[in-house]
Amino acid sequence: MEELRQIESFQVDHEKLKRGLYVSRIDRRNDEVVTTYDIRMTEPNKERVMDTMTIHTLEHLGATYLRSNEKWKNEVIYFGPMGCRTGFYLSLWGERSSKDLVDLMKDMYKFMADFEGNIPGQSPKECGNYTDLGLPRAKQESKKYLEEVLLNIKEDNLIYPQ
Ligand SMILES: [Zn+2]
Repeated sequence: MEELRQIESFQVDHEKLKRGLYVSRIDRRNDEVVTTYDIRMTEPNKERVMDTMTIHTLEHLGATYLRSNEKWKNEVIYFGPMGCRTGFYLSLWGERSSKDLVDLMKDMYKFMADFEGNIPGQSPKECGNYTDLGLPRAKQESKKYLEEVLLNIKEDNLIYPQ
């Protein structure tokens, strides 16, 4: 095996990282560019992380929102939870800043905070763990991130700590 690489996301100082919306990485190959965002909903190692049901539910709701958004759906490559359960990664075609994503994230988190009805994809045919889904805490966590972070976002919630 080749020497293990120190991956870029481990080089972010998680002890200084606040909740926010960050550019995690930009990947280029030939003429294509992909921007991956770090949607950080809880402060690493300081705040309680989301439980698995909550982050799983937000994955279903967020993916549904993004894939249904007329303006953005063709830009979306991937949306999914971080294993540490402090947030999500979102990969989009093109090169963009963190500020460019604030309005979309406000809309998405409002959609999730206000969501009523059946959770999209909640069936054994559509999901690998369909009983592990539930709305109340997912809505609460969405509202919290929307109101406490996105609606009054500052520079240090948009740029990684140096
Ligand atoms: Zn699922």
